[in-house]
Amino acid sequence: TSLANPIVKDIKALSDKKHRDETKSFMAEGLKLVIDALELGFEIRTLVYAKNVKDKPQVVQCATKTVARGGLGLEVSEKVLASITRRDNPQMVVGIFTQRWTNLRDVRPGNGETYVALDRVRDPGNLGTIIRTADAAGASGVILVGESTDPFSMETVRATMGSVFAVPLVRTSVADFLAWKKGAGVRVVATHLAGAVDYRTIDYKTKPVILMMGNEQSGLPDELAQAADKLARIPQGGRADSLNLAVATGVMLFEVRRHLLTLDGAK
Ligand code: SAM
Repeated sequence: TSLANPIVKDIKALSDKKHRDETKSFMAEGLKLVIDALELGFEIRTLVYAKNVKDKPQVVQCATKTVARGGLGLEVSEKVLASITRRDNPQMVVGIFTQRWTNLRDVRPGNGETYVALDRVRDPGNLGTIIRTADAAGASGVILVGESTDPFSMETVRATMGSVFAVPLVRTSVADFLAWKKGAGVRVVATHLAGAVDYRTIDYKTKPVILMMGNEQSGLPDELAQAADKLARIPQGGRADSLNLAVATGVMLFEVRRHLLTLDGAK
């Protein structure tokens, strides 16, 4: 019940990126997310749950699994949960998990696969929405190029609605990305407001696609734009200068999916 409890304090510190980086952990809220994460084999460090749900069969199952895997089960008051999650109406179950990163060297896209590469994505909500959309579109992973917002921040994890556990995440520098691209046998389709090609006319089928999206404020830098195999434009109407990054990513991903799947194959 005490907010001064050292374990509780440690969990609260996860709202700070430095602490997440040091401990290589993050927090996910909600019973469904915790169940999904456990199913997907994510390492759970602590399961935090409110006293009033402690006898719920699914919570008991999660707690048993947590302890069996060497984690800690922590029964707390709603006040503590509200404080940990920084919410007035907190979820009754919260999991603390080990971050999972995929190394770019291990990314070897095969035919029919699509990855999203994001140049210096800044906004946590955009990143979370993109991870969720990549999951829904059947993409194989999200590659964060350059200094990016943290996919394991509370805000991003919330926006992914659980897809943070399903979509492999990679982080890399521009130089390493460009070096990897040379030998990966992929087609980099970069979206650009000055793109020469209508996004609907591109060949997304003959090679695995890396869909490259530019930074929210400044768009794609020349270095990345020049290394792309195609510069795609989504034709717009109206007066808006551009689409929101996550919306543009969604439009592109489902266009790629449309090219890859026949109607029979779509869910
Ligand atoms: N001021 C920025 C610029 O000049 O590029 C706007 C960036 S936009 C908000 C973020 C990213 O979404 C762009 O870099 C691009 O990758 C993508 N995007 C947005 N609208 C687009 C469009 N109509 N065609 C192609 N890409 C678009």
